Amino acid sequence: MAELNCFDIAQKQLDDCAKILNLDAGVHEFLRHPMREFHFSIPVRMDNGSIKIFKGFRVQYNDALGPCKGGIRFHPAETIDTLRALAAWMTWKTSLLGLPLGGGKGGVVCDPKELSVGELERLCRGYVDAIWQNIGPAKDIPAPDVYTTPQMMAWMMDEYSKLTGYNNFGCITGKPLCVGGSCGRNDATARGGMYTLREAAKELNIDLKKATIAIQGYGNAGSNAHRLVRELFGSKVVALSDSKGGAFNDSGIDFDTAAKVKAKTASVADIPDVKKISNEELLELDVDILIAAALENVITKENAGDIKAKIVVELANGPTTPEADAILYENNVHVIPDILANAGGVTVSYFEMVQNSMLYCWPFDEVYRKLDERMTAAYHGVLAASEHYGINMRQAAYTVAVARVVEAMKTRGWV
Ligand code: NAD
Repeated sequence: MAELNCFDIAQKQLDDCAKILNLDAGVHEFLRHPMREFHFSIPVRMDNGSIKIFKGFRVQYNDALGPCKGGIRFHPAETIDTLRALAAWMTWKTSLLGLPLGGGKGGVVCDPKELSVGELERLCRGYVDAIWQNIGPAKDIPAPDVYTTPQMMAWMMDEYSKLTGYNNFGCITGKPLCVGGSCGRNDATARGGMYTLREAAKELNIDLKKATIAIQGYGNAGSNAHRLVRELFGSKVVALSDSKGGAFNDSGIDFDTAAKVKAKTASVADIPDVKKISNEELLELDVDILIAAALENVITKENAGDIKAKIVVELANGPTTPEADAILYENNVHVIPDILANAGGVTVSYFEMVQNSMLYCWPFDEVYRKLDERMTAAYHGVLAASEHYGINMRQAAYTVAVARVVEAMKTRGWV
């Protein structure tokens, strides 16, 4: 898989699905590419008085089901192909969850760690200045993603509101609570994943109270998953990792200890009284549940045969390659695929848009209940498709999601 980039993988996943659904060749070709993409230059006045030009992108992959939705990434190695893949995955994700939204993704090639707060604010406002006529609540609603934050969303919302002439909170999600954010957005990705894990454990007769869990990645998704498996199920997390390495303790690793160490040394590898392990070793541990919450392409044809977990929860986008998928399926490993497992984030983002349009604010328990209903229904829809076609959970998720987009395109008379 090393030679394949993310967009090649996204297209291959769609190609597999097109065969299962026996898609018309023209419809299949239409879905293999974004409907629209924007490439633009953003001039920013730097603190030293010079002007620096940043490259910006926005991909609107498919909006048959509704306005596009997807994050904006600020990353020095950003590429248009990564954004195309992520926009495709957003299209399938929103469809799978039954949201009236399409899929999009944006990015800026930059290293936000090298920018001052003022430069970052001007870059955020510049991004909106360049694209504002093509985004907005009825067209395309961005959100935070890699290296972009709720504060940046607030600046972008403010710029859009100034350009359109009124407070337009619903033009962007993932905002701070005081300017139209939603309760429950911060841990929505992990929480949604935990609801699907609960359903999968019921199917496989795994008692989550007695289950052992390993978590790769300890950022927003991974650390919230650690807290939530304790809160919701009382499971034992025996291994954690981040980019600096991993920690293992078969008696369990306490969330509060891990959170304190991570805050102090920036790595869970420094937790005391644990065996230090590598990220590769973590994936192959003899645990009941593996939560992949770091990077893409970590479960490959080389290590898939050594995965011992009974359930893999993909909170990360694209952690498993297509070849590894086939091996895991053959070995009866139940994979909760990324477009299902990590869809809680976009689902609560959708709730944020709805609340903004109603000028209303739902309490935490209402957000959690609505999220649970959608994640549980989506999980069982995918499981049913997997059993119906005799295919793995990822292929099943694709069939449900792609079929809905195709139905909308046909009904609208596009194809
Ligand atoms: P984050 O930046 O908060 O955390 C990423 C974590 O991964 C960090 O702890 C980092 O140390 C770790 N990491 C980096 N390289 C690693 C490596 N080689 N091995 C092990 N760990 C490594 O990011 P996040 O928001 O938690 O996102 C994690 C994944 O979840 C990404 O794939 C992201 O696209 C996906 N995701 C996140 C959200 C969300 O709402 N946060 C939503 C959907 C999908």
